[in-house]
Amino acid sequence: MNRILTVVVFLNFAGIVSAQEVSVALFYDRKPQGITVTVQKGKYLVYDDKKLIDTVETGNNINIVKESDYLVYRNRTKAFATDKDIRIVNSGEASFFVNYTGSVEAARCFEGWLKIKRDNFNIFAINYVPLDSYVAGIVEAEGAALASEEYFKAMSVVLRTFTLFNLSKHGAEGFDFCDGSHCQLYKNKSTNRVIIQAAKKTTNLVMVDKYMNIIQSFYHLNSGGLTADGRNVVNVKADYLKPVSDTFAVYGKNYSWKLLMPGIEWQAFLVKKGLKAADSKLVKDLIVCMPNSRISAFKIGNDSVKLAAVRSDLGWKSSYFNMSLDKSGVVTVNGKGSGHGVGLSQESAMIMASRGYTYDKILNYFYKDIHIVNLNSLNVYTQIVKKNDGERP
Ligand SMILES: [Zn+2]
Repeated sequence: MNRILTVVVFLNFAGIVSAQEVSVALFYDRKPQGITVTVQKGKYLVYDDKKLIDTVETGNNINIVKESDYLVYRNRTKAFATDKDIRIVNSGEASFFVNYTGSVEAARCFEGWLKIKRDNFNIFAINYVPLDSYVAGIVEAEGAALASEEYFKAMSVVLRTFTLFNLSKHGAEGFDFCDGSHCQLYKNKSTNRVIIQAAKKTTNLVMVDKYMNIIQSFYHLNSGGLTADGRNVVNVKADYLKPVSDTFAVYGKNYSWKLLMPGIEWQAFLVKKGLKAADSKLVKDLIVCMPNSRISAFKIGNDSVKLAAVRSDLGWKSSYFNMSLDKSGVVTVNGKGSGHGVGLSQESAMIMASRGYTYDKILNYFYKDIHIVNLNSLNVYTQIVKKNDGERP
């Protein structure tokens, strides 16, 4: 696997300090024309490219807008225009609120520092954030605020692994991730102490396979009692994504679901999805049953339809279900679980944590033949300078 990790190693005068940061474009979907920043805590230094221009402290506001080929910076005492990037860099522990011009949403709060750059259309507010702060933020965005610490430790390792596997997803645009669900929802720095601690206590821990490659740590809400094979669902053939009999799923809120559908609608759906032969069949011959295992595709002769389509096209909670047909031609669908079913089942993990399973036991339950290792011990952890010149001035 040719994963290039753009982990930056920083040097300072006191010796070698390594820090992992990821870069995330905030308000990416909003294509902002400007942003406002308010210092929540600490002190920030403002640079026009690499030149120190301003210092702002707790409570100070900054406004940066794109005006044709320039970024225009204003606060109460200072204004300047530049055709370069503006960096707003924390001096020690600090955090800031940020919002975009014209927003009707609440301002969001983050740690780390910001680089503001522009293209021909809008600006990019790129947050360079310590890895654990990012991990805590995306774990919190997943919800489940009341779960126990071992659950959050498990999710911290899952999402840190996911982050490193997908690093530089937006590399062509000069940052690692966007803040939307395209990458991983990142709405705020975490304010949940249990989550922040869970990220810290698992710092640098990631999952690797038996070849020491970082794994693709898929997860979903509820497995319905049996996880899905990654090969069939997400097209990843790996030992760690093999089906697992999950005896905890039954205690989750999303273990089962049920719906009714006219048989002719089910038939029409199969035909629409390319199963032409379904047109000349009776509805009773189109009934899907999965008594003991998941079936990924429904077949007639040489034609087949991937059942994942019931989630994307029909909005069903999962593609793991049994059907029965009554005399009036109505199909009853008894579904199990929620989500694609691959990898870790979040509701099961929560139940395991509440019953005293530690995070490593939880991870090993869902991902087979994996190792939980420190990122620093991996060969891939080498210094690769970011192409996008994201370093601190
Ligand atoms: Zn993205």
